[in-house]
Amino acid sequence: MKSIKRTIKYDADRVQGFGREIMGVTGCEQLPSCIQCGTCSGACPLSIYMDFSPRQVMALVRADFKREVLSSNTIWLCASCYGCTVECPRQIRITDIMYALKQRAIREGVYPKGMPIPVLAREFTRMVLSKGRITETLLVMRLFLKANWRAVLSSWRLGLGLIQTGRFVLKPERIERREELAAMLATVSVTRHAARAAKGRHHATPEQLIAEEVP
Ligand code: SF4
Ligand code: SF4
Repeated sequence: MKSIKRTIKYDADRVQGFGREIMGVTGCEQLPSCIQCGTCSGACPLSIYMDFSPRQVMALVRADFKREVLSSNTIWLCASCYGCTVECPRQIRITDIMYALKQRAIREGVYPKGMPIPVLAREFTRMVLSKGRITETLLVMRLFLKANWRAVLSSWRLGLGLIQTGRFVLKPERIERREELAAMLATVSVTRHAARAAKGRHHATPEQLIAEEVP
């Protein structure tokens, strides 16, 4: 028997405090002044492909519908063109809010299944934190394997050609003195840095940073 999909949202579906947390992120403070005019949705070149329009995402965040927002494809389809932010009559930095939501979704491991963009973002971050720079070949291979391994079968010729022409290098790249990068990144998160300092660990190793920042 076909299951019935519930579309009605109840108060119990809210995660109290989620909206406040997002509005506490730098650049997202203006969200409470949204008047739901829909200008952002009208300006967005990708809104027709999104399951929730930018206007709806703003409303859902304010109303604490965390699961709906973090699992939507909207935040991942956002191309960061800043069209909505430029047009918003209340100067709400919608693009920054989308970034805050992406970061939150990656940190909590909640994103639409099979969507390659969050996988790419996670693997990119993981590689930069670990090596200080990315190796495109390895990044693409990880993306294919974790998001859609079947795509390897249809793209192997292209990949081989890129390797043969020297566009893709196989040798892993890394910076020197990775511990200095780790120390620099550690200072970005004041809360985590303070917690480390309290434990007498002022600097984290790259591996510790990855474990804390990327699920
Ligand atoms: S354009 Fe600005 S005020 Fe209007 S719905 Fe979008 S975020 Fe809200
Ligand atoms: S920044 Fe994102 S949400 Fe805003 S208009 Fe561009 S694609 Fe749409």
